[in-house]
Amino acid sequence: MRVGVPSEIKTNEHRVGLTPTAVREYAARGHSVMVQAGAGAGAGFTDEDYRKAGASIAPDAAAVFSGSDMIVKVKEPQKVEWEMLREDQILYTYLHLAPDPEQTQGLLASKCAAIAYETVTDARGGLPLLAPMSEVAGRIAVFSAAETLLKHNGGMGLLFCGVPGVAPARVLVLGGGVVGLNAARMAMGLGAEVVVLERSIPRMAYIDEVTGGRVITRYSSIGAIDEEIVKADVVIGAVLVPGASAPKLVKREHLAKMKPGSVLVDVAIDQGGCFETSRPTTHEDPTYVIDGVVHYCVANMPGAAPRTSSEALNNATLPFGLALADHGLDALKKDPHLARGLNVLKGQITYPAVAQALGLEW
Ligand code: NAD
Repeated sequence: MRVGVPSEIKTNEHRVGLTPTAVREYAARGHSVMVQAGAGAGAGFTDEDYRKAGASIAPDAAAVFSGSDMIVKVKEPQKVEWEMLREDQILYTYLHLAPDPEQTQGLLASKCAAIAYETVTDARGGLPLLAPMSEVAGRIAVFSAAETLLKHNGGMGLLFCGVPGVAPARVLVLGGGVVGLNAARMAMGLGAEVVVLERSIPRMAYIDEVTGGRVITRYSSIGAIDEEIVKADVVIGAVLVPGASAPKLVKREHLAKMKPGSVLVDVAIDQGGCFETSRPTTHEDPTYVIDGVVHYCVANMPGAAPRTSSEALNNATLPFGLALADHGLDALKKDPHLARGLNVLKGQITYPAVAQALGLEW
């Protein structure tokens, strides 16, 4: 199959659909890969790296779209991109169609087969192509919190890890899923005192086991939040209720009771945020202060580490991508988990939640 990798064109997106390592795997199976010149630059991969891996370099996106059977990307296609897609093409990327009627109509009009990373499943009911970005975000959240706690960044002037004789930060993590556990382990590794509030009892048992009991788990109740929030120097919001907006677990009135200069990092901001006072921010201007509490709510935290994020994403997307390259759409018949990724086919929506969210026929 002819596989194409255009440059990402969404603002501040520096990740790339295929890394040179992944290109080599496609090439080894006899597929030809065409990469747009400069597509990997933001993640630190040169055109020469891609050539060595077996790709050809195309001068522009038009050449990639017109010369490929499958387009592999990171972010949802923008208008100029969906206008280049064709009926006989597979698009393999994050789509997030439910809140995006314009893109959905564009993909329907193209009649392409669009496979969304975020709806591919695994045997344990997880979302394997979302998990790597949650891992990155959970870990970055701790670095960001540690930076923000410093005085010149608006924080209380606390060194996250403490020093001998002086206590480290106390970190409260709301939600112990992929983001939450990665944040908790990273914070623990830096020497912080860590409490995770969770609703799932098996998940709390798992966190207890993998951290050797060094991360405290508590059932997430209104009372536990009231008690823990006043003790925390850092609160990391990492809850997810599938298919719903994030619950607002931390209310405006909590802020006045928190330590001045404490830091809230809302990783769940892409689902509306789990602090009542959250609003999305950017890497260029990441924080704002309400009632003396510094809020860090960057909507695209993995974007700060495009190199790691591209490699982690490729590790997860590669097996499914190779199956699509080997078998075309027949790969969906062989793998029901990959089939769940299909959102649009021949001008029809094929994923019920997307159709429902957009009020379209299903
Ligand atoms: P996940 O499903 O692995 O974990 C969510 C956890 O929240 C689950 O364990 C669930 O039991 C728990 N939970 C639900 N309600 C709760 C409550 N009331 N109190 C405590 N815990 C509760 O999800 P995830 O992959 O860890 O993602 C978490 C959030 O981070 C999502 O909103 C996701 O979209 C977001 N995210 C954001 C970025 C970013 O850059 N901002 C990147 C990756 C993920």
